[in-house]
Amino acid sequence: MKKAIVCGAGGFIGSHLVKKLKKEGFWVRGVDLKYPEFGETEADQFIIGDLREIEICKLVIDQPFDELYQLAGEVGGAGYVFTGENDAEIMHNSALINLNIVDLASKIGVKKLFYSSSACIYPQYNQLDPKNPNCAESTAYPALPDSEYGWEKLFSERIYQTYARTYQINIKIARFHNIFGEEGTYIGGREKAPAALCRKIALVNDGGVIDIWGDGKQTRSFLYIDECLEGVRKLMDSDFDGPVNIGSEEMVSIDELAFKIAHIAGKKISINHIEGPMGVRGRNSDNTLIYKKLNWRPSTFLEYGLNKTFFWINNMVKLNG
Ligand code: NAD
Repeated sequence: MKKAIVCGAGGFIGSHLVKKLKKEGFWVRGVDLKYPEFGETEADQFIIGDLREIEICKLVIDQPFDELYQLAGEVGGAGYVFTGENDAEIMHNSALINLNIVDLASKIGVKKLFYSSSACIYPQYNQLDPKNPNCAESTAYPALPDSEYGWEKLFSERIYQTYARTYQINIKIARFHNIFGEEGTYIGGREKAPAALCRKIALVNDGGVIDIWGDGKQTRSFLYIDECLEGVRKLMDSDFDGPVNIGSEEMVSIDELAFKIAHIAGKKISINHIEGPMGVRGRNSDNTLIYKKLNWRPSTFLEYGLNKTFFWINNMVKLNG
């Protein structure tokens, strides 16, 4: 039986990944500061611990596991990442976790290590036109991410790549583009656009008004969690190391996203544009490389995941207010 560690197993992507690995027959050790918020973990063993502390990392990586998935870090949507207030925390905490994990994993001899990087590493100057952003993997340099979150991700990509070169550890890196789905953060300040809009639309009456940060013309693509995990597992089972985009190429404006969700909810809404953190003007995944290397790309439309996510959030809102 293959053994895997999932760091960040109490978080959105990590808790779903644990379920997937269990279905595939892995023995799984999860680690996080907290248990998953919206359901029981399916990990065989779950360590509550702070991965900034090397002694905790030593408890977690105590033998040469077959696979390690590094998803732990400081994460949030525009309201968390673009205000500037959390920058020191983001850079310090996430970098420490990555430095600890890559060093121990290479010393103990973890066979394969997955690192979750982000579309936020791509340079601002290629994301000024909302209709034509360029996020091909090869465009990452000269680097100019628009957030410290993006800079930390790029720095950590480089740490992992350096260890891969120096110590021959097998590292796989994916750059996620806006992953969403059920059991993700939808309230509290760290939620991202799809979850925040689902919550706002769940709360508004038919014919009501919702607030959107910025002019609503900024574009993004959003990938449903099941597709993301399929991409991650395909990458882990391949000979290709990345960094590679895991995202959708179905780009929409934030206004369009809101109207799609309202349609699913069966509500007519109007949008009130207010000032707020926005990030780059346009961003879309470029799936040329993943298709070439893994012969795979996501296959479901945005509506499929939005439908599942909206009704889950709608239910949570009804239960919890
Ligand atoms: P999440 O916040 O739900 O999960 C991250 C988990 O890391 C949390 O459960 C948190 O408690 C844990 N964590 C934070 N600090 C820790 C510490 N010191 N010790 C132990 N655990 C700690 O976020 P997510 O959406 O599941 O994202 C997972 C990974 O994917 C993150 O690294 C994120 O940067 C990356 N990513 C996510 C997206 C997305 O759209 N969700 C996009 C790009 C990249």
